[in-house]
Amino acid sequence: MTRKTGLVVVIGAGIGGLSAAIRLAAAGRRVAVLEQGAQVGGKMSQVVQDGYRWDTGPSVITMRPVFEELFAAAGRRLEEYLTLEPVEPLTRYFFPDGTRLDATRDLARMAEQIAALDARDVEGYLDFLEYAARLHRITGPVFVYNQPPTWRTFLGVSPADMMRVDPWLTMDQAIRRRVHSPHLRQLLGRFATYVGASPFQAPATLSVIAHVELTGGVWYPRGGIYQIATALARLATELGVEIHTRTPVIRILVEHGRATGVVTADGRTLAAASVLANVDVTTVYTQLLSPEIAPARREALRRRQTSCSGYVLLLGVEGEHPQLAHHNIFFNRDYRREFADIFQRGAPPRDPTVYVAITSKRDPTHAPPGCENWFVLVNAPPLGPAFDWEQQGAAYRALVLDTLARYGLDIRPRIRSEVALTPADLQRLTGAWRGALYGISSNQALNAFRRPHNRCPDVRGLYFAGGTTHPGGGVPMVTLSGKVAAELLLRDEHG
Ligand SMILES: Cc1cc2nc3c(=O)[nH]c(=O)nc-3n(C[C@H](O)[C@H](O)[C@H](O)COP(=O)(O)OP(=O)(O)OC[C@H]3O[C@@H](n4cnc5c(N)ncnc54)[C@H](O)[C@@H]3O)c2cc1C
Repeated sequence: MTRKTGLVVVIGAGIGGLSAAIRLAAAGRRVAVLEQGAQVGGKMSQVVQDGYRWDTGPSVITMRPVFEELFAAAGRRLEEYLTLEPVEPLTRYFFPDGTRLDATRDLARMAEQIAALDARDVEGYLDFLEYAARLHRITGPVFVYNQPPTWRTFLGVSPADMMRVDPWLTMDQAIRRRVHSPHLRQLLGRFATYVGASPFQAPATLSVIAHVELTGGVWYPRGGIYQIATALARLATELGVEIHTRTPVIRILVEHGRATGVVTADGRTLAAASVLANVDVTTVYTQLLSPEIAPARREALRRRQTSCSGYVLLLGVEGEHPQLAHHNIFFNRDYRREFADIFQRGAPPRDPTVYVAITSKRDPTHAPPGCENWFVLVNAPPLGPAFDWEQQGAAYRALVLDTLARYGLDIRPRIRSEVALTPADLQRLTGAWRGALYGISSNQALNAFRRPHNRCPDVRGLYFAGGTTHPGGGVPMVTLSGKVAAELLLRDEHG
């Protein structure tokens, strides 16, 4: 069998792995996806229990065109597989002083709410949206939509454009220059958390995420977010991809510097022309490659600061809460302290911002009649010595529920079903290094250049797709990551 027609083994059926598998199969490659878990989707997962259904990972889907393009690349239309409904309001924000704001794409409605906070901020908000759109235009082609950036691509950005993206400011500083209201500053800064970063450290360029959501909108796949995973698995299977669940890979075989196959936990060896790992890159280096391969890079990866993790409570709640929307945020008083707790103390926030998503508001079948399925998420540090979830998890759960009670949502006596997912569970279930949601930290300005490349620099024929490689984490980004990795693999075959 020649290399060109040989099997491509994809390790992991996360969204990045499925996206790559679809592209490769659409290009005529034979592809097998080996997934350690019982179901596909990786961090995009679901739990069904006691009459409730919850999505356990992503809850906010943006960048609809990225998904449309993936289906189109396989000669299909997204609408044949998924019904993506626009979500309005995008998010309902609650503040400790009783202020409430519905973020919306409707500019008139947004302006009215902002004017009630600080009349000067109506102009400031529009200016911020323009700035974020400019960031998208300038940085998108460099950092998001194409192959990994090099210093050369970066130098292709004109000096004028370079200055227009505020390269030396943090996100918080860029926001402060445009809006005055502390509420609006906190709301706009929150977009840093979409890549597991702190608005007080992350570069201003990450404000591009605000553009993607506030202008591009949020989408909900009818039936639940997990429909995206099942739709991609269906499309992959139709294209001839073999998906094997409950098949952990324990070693990537390398001969003369080239990946030649994989060994599975049950002792089988599968020969491959190329291997594409959808596993956290640090986990690949520490667990799947032989220790003799690139020890210096492995150590460097292990030492890198990672993005934050999350603490999740899936709650079946008796009663309905008309004051809540599909997506809700309950902010704290001191946002700066929240990120200092996470990134400096290495412990979950003492006064957390709490996010609650309730899909049963749209899909009543996700909870029994008169009940709701709450997905509660709090930012948490990656696993480290300062906090032990096994010992301290119960007390932290109580703190999160107390926080909601302070907002008038004392659901404690009405919890009918419950599942908790800690950063340790994320590490165990998906191979995420230290349970980090988005790989290496985006808190440093130059980290977009330090992100592991989609082509392994140490082993020929080994590629990476997923949230820890270019262009980064989040469902649309890992979908793009699968595209980038598949393109590199196909290009190398022909080269
Ligand atoms: C709580 C939470 C909330 C989030 N919220 C959002 C959100 O609102 N919006 C958004 O866009 N994104 C969100 N994300 C991030 C998003 O879910 C991820 O960035 C994305 O799903 C990661 O995809 P991936 O391709 O990196 O693969 P992963 O999901 O990391 O999947 C990797 C797969 O590889 C498998 N695997 C690992 N090791 C092996 C092995 N040795 N052998 C075989 N298989 C293996 C794993 O089991 C897993 O299925 C959230 C994530 C979490 C956890």
